[in-house]
Amino acid sequence: MVTAKAETKPMVRCWLCGELVKVKFSCKGKPYVIYYKCGVQVFVRNKRGAALLADKIRKESNYEQS
Ligand SMILES: [Zn+2]
Repeated sequence: MVTAKAETKPMVRCWLCGELVKVKFSCKGKPYVIYYKCGVQVFVRNKRGAALLADKIRKESNYEQS
């Protein structure tokens, strides 16, 4: 089956190398990014961070949040 959108997963660019990395969500709904290639781990724990991350996701991965 082919889905309508090629890119449906939220992703952001690694702040070190610029490659796209999947954004995951904890059981409490907090977003986090783990990028093993660069050893980067980012956890977003408050509203400001979550809002900025959502903006970054929209700009960098064409991901539409419902
Ligand atoms: Zn990187």
